[in-house]
Amino acid sequence: MDPKAFFKLSYGLYVITSQKGDKINGQTANALIQVTSEPPALAIGINNGNLTNEFIKDSNVFAVSILSQETPLNFIGQFGFKSGRDTNKFDQVNYKTGSTGAPLILDNTLSVLEAKVTQKMDVGTHTLFVGEVVGTEVIREGEPMTYAYYHQVKRGTTPKSAPTYSGTKEEKKETALPSYQCTICGYTYEEDKGDPDSGIAPGTPFEDIPDSWTCPVCGAAKDQFKKV
Ligand code: FE
Repeated sequence: MDPKAFFKLSYGLYVITSQKGDKINGQTANALIQVTSEPPALAIGINNGNLTNEFIKDSNVFAVSILSQETPLNFIGQFGFKSGRDTNKFDQVNYKTGSTGAPLILDNTLSVLEAKVTQKMDVGTHTLFVGEVVGTEVIREGEPMTYAYYHQVKRGTTPKSAPTYSGTKEEKKETALPSYQCTICGYTYEEDKGDPDSGIAPGTPFEDIPDSWTCPVCGAAKDQFKKV
């Protein structure tokens, strides 16, 4: 099998949220499709080890936040590279509670969809949930983030728990200036591009970045980076 064949698949990028009792959680996901329109239904694949999977199995509801192309990496990292078991992912995130009790994220979101689970299938490492859509709302206009845009333009990376993870080794691009890679998540800081989302201008040498700066994807400290 040639693993590169899978790279031709296209995806969006979403935050999937759910609830369990008085607790809420959410995570980034790209494995989502609309499967029917009458009635409207969605299918999502969620890793069995993730807290969101546990919450969806418990409450049988989930909500989808369709992210804007302008979503900063640290927002995606907050939901993709941290676990709700260790941190409150909704700290400093604007959201409201939907009719299903699942949180509906308002930041960086174009529209939200709420669903009640009608079927679930164990597919090994992941569970495939099918849900009938029971509520929708457009939050703002804009272009949706695609998985390709996240990787190629935003230079985002993929957690190991994702269905499409294929290793953190990134091909080194030929650039005039050196680059530094996060040893935790694989994000690469390229000096010629900087990190404008975090206020680091293009052309800023890695040594000149303040020590308070953290990896925009996973939040790792600056000393977790190595030159590549
Ligand atoms: Fe990182």
